[in-house]
Amino acid sequence: MIDGCGRTIDHLRLSLTDYCNLACRYCVPDDAAPCGQMIDEEFAFQVVRWLSTRHGIRYLRLTGGEPLMYAPLHRLTRRLAELGTLREITLTTNGQALGHQAESLAAAGLLRVNVSLDTLRADRFSRVTRGGDLDHTLCGIKAAVRAGLAPVKINVVAQRSFNDNEIANIAEWGLSHGCVVRFLEVMPIGPLAHVADKHLVPASEILERLSERFTLRAIPGSLGQPATDYAVSGNGMRGVVGIIAATTRPFCDRCRRLRITSRGRIVACIHDGTGFDLAEFWDGSELCVHDADEVLSRALRGKPKEGPRRQSLAMVSLGG
Ligand code: SAM
Repeated sequence: MIDGCGRTIDHLRLSLTDYCNLACRYCVPDDAAPCGQMIDEEFAFQVVRWLSTRHGIRYLRLTGGEPLMYAPLHRLTRRLAELGTLREITLTTNGQALGHQAESLAAAGLLRVNVSLDTLRADRFSRVTRGGDLDHTLCGIKAAVRAGLAPVKINVVAQRSFNDNEIANIAEWGLSHGCVVRFLEVMPIGPLAHVADKHLVPASEILERLSERFTLRAIPGSLGQPATDYAVSGNGMRGVVGIIAATTRPFCDRCRRLRITSRGRIVACIHDGTGFDLAEFWDGSELCVHDADEVLSRALRGKPKEGPRRQSLAMVSLGG
């Protein structure tokens, strides 16, 4: 698939639900209406089959909301893996329920996981997630490593006055547990765009804080792909950390992504609120691919060159 700006689109982020068992303060608005939309399993399967067999989607990331709260997740993963059209099926999770699901997800055909972990302090974890249990996520990460969902990537959203003094500690914890640790600049998304203005820790500062403890060497070819990866060593440890500078160094010119929300809308750009409804071409048992092709082509033509920052959805509804 080539979009209107000549970019190849081969990555799909599929949001299985907009329900999350946590409610991170930068992701879920204070006044968010309770959500609980679960994508229809057969619809999700047929959408991925359509996009991977007819349109070249090769990399699928299952997300949400919280994808581990989606009851048919294991069966859907197995069916998608058996399609044989995808190079990778990966998943992004808060890890709260990963401890007891990691092994069976790996058996179902999941290749890797990214686990969100913004702090190693239980009180802060509970505060930023509005009630999460740090130990559950740490256990989930260890279970994912044991299950071979490797490399397990830890996603850390760096936030001023919250975890900026923990950056090196989190890197150290992740590396010592065999994970790749990726630091994300907070992005201005939808109703929580102001959080980025207030709490952004730029990539340059993340790098500085890591350099105080580790020696870092940029891995050639990784610059902004979208992470810039570094080989790190120090404190008796070696491994890889990445920095995703989506706010200070946007990678729109290299964006290869399309999103489908749990409500069945195609979102071509994370910063653009224009959605294209696929659900209307679903009769409860069959996706009308002819009509879906047409709406897909409109979405691709309309994918902006750069994020226009007119998104109305929060990340939890978009599928981060
Ligand atoms: N519930 C899962 C989780 O917590 O990983 C998956 C969904 S969550 C929306 C996906 C990722 O988006 C998480 O790593 C989260 O930290 C990140 N995220 C959410 N809001 C963000 C923002 N404003 N800026 C940067 N990353 C954000």
